[in-house]
Amino acid sequence: MARRQIERVTVVTLFPQLVQAVAEHGVVGRAIGEGAIRLACENPRDFATDKHRRVDDRPFGGGPGMVMQFAPVVGAIRAARAAGPEGARVVLLSPQGERFSHDKAVTLGRQAHLILVAGRYEGLDERIVESEIDEELSLGDFVLSGGELAAMAVVDSVVRLLPGTLGHAESAVEDSYSAGLLDHPHYTRPASVEGLQVPEVLQSGDHAAIERWRRQQRLGRTWLRRPDLLEVLVLSDEDKALLEAFKASKGDGQDHN
Ligand code: SAM
Repeated sequence: MARRQIERVTVVTLFPQLVQAVAEHGVVGRAIGEGAIRLACENPRDFATDKHRRVDDRPFGGGPGMVMQFAPVVGAIRAARAAGPEGARVVLLSPQGERFSHDKAVTLGRQAHLILVAGRYEGLDERIVESEIDEELSLGDFVLSGGELAAMAVVDSVVRLLPGTLGHAESAVEDSYSAGLLDHPHYTRPASVEGLQVPEVLQSGDHAAIERWRRQQRLGRTWLRRPDLLEVLVLSDEDKALLEAFKASKGDGQDHN
């Protein structure tokens, strides 16, 4: 049976124009243009009930900043649910969420409808989280002023993994994290620039040797930069030999960059 694939992403945001700007370009823009995925926005302001279309208010208990109110945000989330395929997964972008990752992008790409909620101000009234949010995702240990950029980072990484979305020239197969390893280094013309050379093997025309070199670079870079990734991989004997040779070429394992 074919695996379910994402059809629609809705971003709940006070700034739909920010989302649209990102969605018009590059891989995401092309995927939308070709109908591979639909991207929609719901603006909580359209669900505000007072005449000033307010979406925020002061925090109970005092303190700085404003908090996004329950009714407008929940109204937007429910409208998003109603407009898309059933069983939407609702994700809040939040610096307090689980760290976003390649594996999470793969998982989210299997949801028919993904609703991404972008906070602003001090964030959402916690009761929205309790009643509507399935999970919280963070881009990293820093604070953005709004969730839109984080939402678009999620959209971009999910969309580029969809089959047929990337052309051959942009293949994701060897990208960092795709098989638990970082990517190998890349070079393009000219072969020599300011005294810096392209590794000879890449110009040899020997495809087996090039593949071996790239695999070794992926293993070596991961060992140097993200040894935590290597710890959970089961390496073949060939991979182990390539990595040992890489380590030997670097000496004592210190200061390799
Ligand atoms: N008071 C919140 C806190 O300290 O947890 C931060 C609110 S932040 C100024 C406003 C919004 O930006 C958040 O509701 C969230 O949607 C988004 N945001 C900020 N940092 C983020 C991050 N690292 N990852 C994902 N979203 C983030």
